[in-house]
Amino acid sequence: MTNSISYAVDSDGIATLTIDQPDKSMNVIGADFVEEFKAAIDRATSDAAVKGIIITSGKSSFVAGADLIAMEGMIHHSRSAAASEALKAVLQFSNVLRRLETCGKPVACAINGTALGGGFEIALACHYRVSADGENVKIGQPEVQVGLLPGAGGTQRIPRLIGIMPALSLLLEGRHLSPQQAKSSGLIHDVVPASRLLATAKNWLTSPNAKAVQPWDEKSFKVPGGAGGMNPNAVQTFIAANAMLHDKTFGNYPAPTAILSCVYEGTQVPIDLGLRIEAKYFLSLLRGDVAPNMIRSLFINKGKADKLSRRPQGIPKAHFKKIGMLGAGLMGAAIAYVAASNGIEVVLIDQTQEAAEKGKNHARKLVEGAVSKRRMTQGDGEALLARIHPTTDYNGLAEADYIIEAVFESRDVKAEVSKRAEAVIKPTTIFGSNTSTLPITSLAEASTRPDKFIGIHFFSPAEKMPLVEIIRGKQTSDEALAVTLDFVQAIKKTPIVVNDGRGFFTSRFCGCYIGEGEIMLTEGIPAALIENAGKLAGMPVGPLALADETAIDLGWKIHKATEADLGVAYKPSPAVSVMETMYAKLGRAGRKNAKGFYDYPEKGQKSLWPGLAEQFPSKPETEWPSVDELKKRLLYAQALDAVRCMEEGAPYTGGPISMIDTIGAAKFVAECDALAQKYGERFLPPKLIRDMAARGETFYPVSKMAAAA
Ligand code: NAD
Repeated sequence: MTNSISYAVDSDGIATLTIDQPDKSMNVIGADFVEEFKAAIDRATSDAAVKGIIITSGKSSFVAGADLIAMEGMIHHSRSAAASEALKAVLQFSNVLRRLETCGKPVACAINGTALGGGFEIALACHYRVSADGENVKIGQPEVQVGLLPGAGGTQRIPRLIGIMPALSLLLEGRHLSPQQAKSSGLIHDVVPASRLLATAKNWLTSPNAKAVQPWDEKSFKVPGGAGGMNPNAVQTFIAANAMLHDKTFGNYPAPTAILSCVYEGTQVPIDLGLRIEAKYFLSLLRGDVAPNMIRSLFINKGKADKLSRRPQGIPKAHFKKIGMLGAGLMGAAIAYVAASNGIEVVLIDQTQEAAEKGKNHARKLVEGAVSKRRMTQGDGEALLARIHPTTDYNGLAEADYIIEAVFESRDVKAEVSKRAEAVIKPTTIFGSNTSTLPITSLAEASTRPDKFIGIHFFSPAEKMPLVEIIRGKQTSDEALAVTLDFVQAIKKTPIVVNDGRGFFTSRFCGCYIGEGEIMLTEGIPAALIENAGKLAGMPVGPLALADETAIDLGWKIHKATEADLGVAYKPSPAVSVMETMYAKLGRAGRKNAKGFYDYPEKGQKSLWPGLAEQFPSKPETEWPSVDELKKRLLYAQALDAVRCMEEGAPYTGGPISMIDTIGAAKFVAECDALAQKYGERFLPPKLIRDMAARGETFYPVSKMAAAA
């Protein structure tokens, strides 16, 4: 056991338990911690000199939540042990917190910094909660975001504290609150300057208000606003919450449904039973497939990417004061905004001053939106805009620490601007191209310094999309890769490093989804059915909506460019005929010209373009394939491409691969073979996955999260 909780009793009988895990930047909850915490509480409870207890942390944050990395072990245990054993393990921390709030002595939590997940659940089990004020202090229960629920009382104490409706909004959205917001919603009692935090906690403990009983342990307790199937308020809330949840998730995410059940069932019974109900639902999530896959993709693999696990060693960390942005169109303007919002000066170049100013105006609109939503102060917004310098003058690039090019997707235009920039920039400056599809190795041929040339591929809208794809050309140096990764980190995005193949990874991957949707249109499947199948499959938008967002003309241009580059070797997808009809024949480019698979009225919501029925007549309803088959096609088309990328050597980590493990390689291959027979050879499984199926292998180790229950 490590020594991570210090214990000190002052002359007034106040015991302070300070959590400070050695060798960790943040306190996290794992099995060792739970044992130590229990021992510390038992000590304070049995120490006759102790009249009250303060729980706080010795780090800049309070407790960050469960140790999701150590959680792999817990997940494995939950899936392999007998249910009763697994439930016992899951209840351990919850039981310790129940012991804390019923220990008979008043307990105050001094929240000195961020308290999330299990960290905030500790605070909830204290009789009094005071938080230090501070911009960086965040409070909340974000478990739902990795497919889990607060398993140590969060789903029980929060509704008992603030009522069911506000509790659901907190638990289902996983939002972070500031200390002030937490106070005004009734989650904590007070917010004070950090310097007064411990004194305030002690004041409460030594005041007549200090009470060692939680509200829900009082005889007369009632859930604020009411609870139960006979209470009209509660019933209304659950009816609405259920409907809203299904509208958003299409039933693909078990965690929010489990949270609803915990709150609905748990608030109708005494808290001890409520906590057992919560633990059972928590265990059901650990034993399911979604939470382990989400934790792996969104936390473990994303964490590795954010920590730049693929950064070449031994190259000093790069810093960025000023960058050059070539092209102030849709992408260039948004990237300039992102860089400026991270404190970096941006020289924003376009062909004319007017075009460059237009790019800055886009940033201005984003600032205005953020200020009106109070996500940014007026002052910060002005400072951000002052960092963007629109111009046509390449000399402004002389001092730039990094260059990004986002001019038209044309080899010639890109070659011209890279030459003009290289004539001015420092010999060491790295040049990144935001091309969507043109291979970096061939674009670098226009450069006199191909070792400093790299792909840095953003996604639209760049101010929102967290991912940046980095593409290494044949001659790209380790240094260019390291500096580019440093830049992506400096603008707080997540990098993935991919191969320099046509379409890299993400465009290919999205293209498969869009393409399969377009092929369905040619088969006479109605657009609304296709779109709903995409959403039911768990995608945020349908394939035709995504085609509109990324622009149909771009898809068409990519087809043309590939045809020109590959000649007879090119096997166009049946989706090309749809792009041809939509863009080449009808000029419908997508959201950008307000005409695509959808219509985009100036006011009001987009809706599917009625003309689709005429261009792509539907076959009779009796001939439509089942929704399950459509879902499978949309998901498998992408997963197969991920396998092909792996076969070609791309270092890819994430969702589709986990999905194949979950289904099992053998079943996946058999289903793909069946789809290939029915719909064409694009569904034929590559050799890699066939071999794995034959050998009974999985992509991720079986002993870890991929283990099937
Ligand atoms: P866009 O047409 O909106 O913007 C291109 C800008 O480049 C225009 O403002 C144009 O005036 C400017 N430009 C053209 N020639 C120039 C020159 N010689 N010197 C300076 N400026 C010049 O296009 P976009 O959608 O922003 O795409 C730009 C690049 O980003 C393309 O390579 C595209 O493939 C890539 N990309 C696009 C998306 C997307 O979703 N649209 C996503 C990722 C990457």
